[in-house]
Order: sequence, then structure tokens, then C-alpha cells
Amino acid sequence: MSNVFASDHPLLAHKLTRLRDKNTDPKKFRELVREMAALLAYEATADLATMSREVETPLAIFHGTELREKIGLVPILRAGLGMVEGIWGLMPSAEVWHIGLYRDEKTLKPVEYYNKLPIEPTVSVCLILDPMLATGGSATATTDILKRWGVKKIKFVGLIGAPEGIAAMQKAHPDVPIYLAAVDERLNEHGYILPGLGDAGDRQFGTG
Ligand code: URA
Repeated sequence: MSNVFASDHPLLAHKLTRLRDKNTDPKKFRELVREMAALLAYEATADLATMSREVETPLAIFHGTELREKIGLVPILRAGLGMVEGIWGLMPSAEVWHIGLYRDEKTLKPVEYYNKLPIEPTVSVCLILDPMLATGGSATATTDILKRWGVKKIKFVGLIGAPEGIAAMQKAHPDVPIYLAAVDERLNEHGYILPGLGDAGDRQFGTG
């Protein structure tokens, strides 16, 4: 699993335990998703390209750097929405492009229902955001969409991954690194991650 980065940061482990707790209410759940997404994005963006930029401090010239790449945040609707705000706080000029996919209950395969990407790509790096990498269907389908759009550098940022979803992504898109706070045991017969945290969309939006 050479391109799977499951963080062992104590802050993430602490927050993830609270996130998993069934007694955590939607307000706290959203706060945790937002904070964890920012911590994971910090790790996922460690290799962004930079270029030199000169600024004047009040005392002297400083030869510094600025980001070279245009970043796109791509939340998969709806659960990925809660991950946007925390990351946007770190990189406010990122573009946000929503992709709507739902899982067909019978086949567990993703069905696309929202995609307003323009014809030409407007960003050079995309972070796909989805809290749960379960079967990997939505993540692989979204990566397909972004590659067809012409984006060369794509990363997946999620909170919990199942071995099944990670394997599916690695098979379909071995070039896409995966950043997670934890890798859990397995999927249950309904495609939910065990032990997981339940339905990440329902728990954020209070619809469970
Ligand atoms: N989606 C969720 O919200 N939770 C899971 O466990 C799997 C997919």
C-alpha cells in the first residue's frame, strides 16, 4: 500500500474516536469532519509545487515562495461537502467543483447525477473529498471524471478507508495517493465500513 497514507497523528486519532462515537451529535460531528479534513489536507499538500516570490519586509527584501499550482477541491456529494470548509480555510483561492454520485442500493455502483465541470480543466491539482472510502466506487468514478477532464495530479482525501475500497482505487488508479485518518477492518453486507462511524452524510446533516 505504497501510496496509502494513514495518518498516525494523535490529534486525528483523538478526533476520529469522537467522530465514531454514536453519541456525537451532528453539530460536533460537522466540526470534527471540518477539523480533520484540514489536518489531512495539510499532509496531502506537502508536495505541492512552489515558485520563488520576492517580497519586501519592513526591513529588507526577502526571497520567498508561493504556490505554483492551481488547486481544485472536489467534494463528492453529499458527505464530502463537510470537508470543504476546513480545507478552504487553508487555501482560500482553491476552486470547488462538486461531483454528485449516489450509490445504487442494489448494485452498490455509483450513479452520476451532478457534474458541472467546464470543458477545459481550470486547475492542475485536485483533491477528491469523501469521508468514507468504502467500496471505492465513488472514488474511482470521480477519478475517472477528473482524468477525462484533463487533470494530471489527483489525490484522494478521506477520513476512514476500508481495505476493499483502497484495493479498488489502487487497481483502477494506482497513481492516485490516498490520505486517510484510519484504515478499518472491512465492509458489511450493505457496503458500510466496520467499525466505521455509520453514514457520514446522515450524521453530518442530521438525517439518520
Ligand atoms: N458511506 C458511509 O457514509 N459510511 C460507510 O460506512 C460507507 C459508506
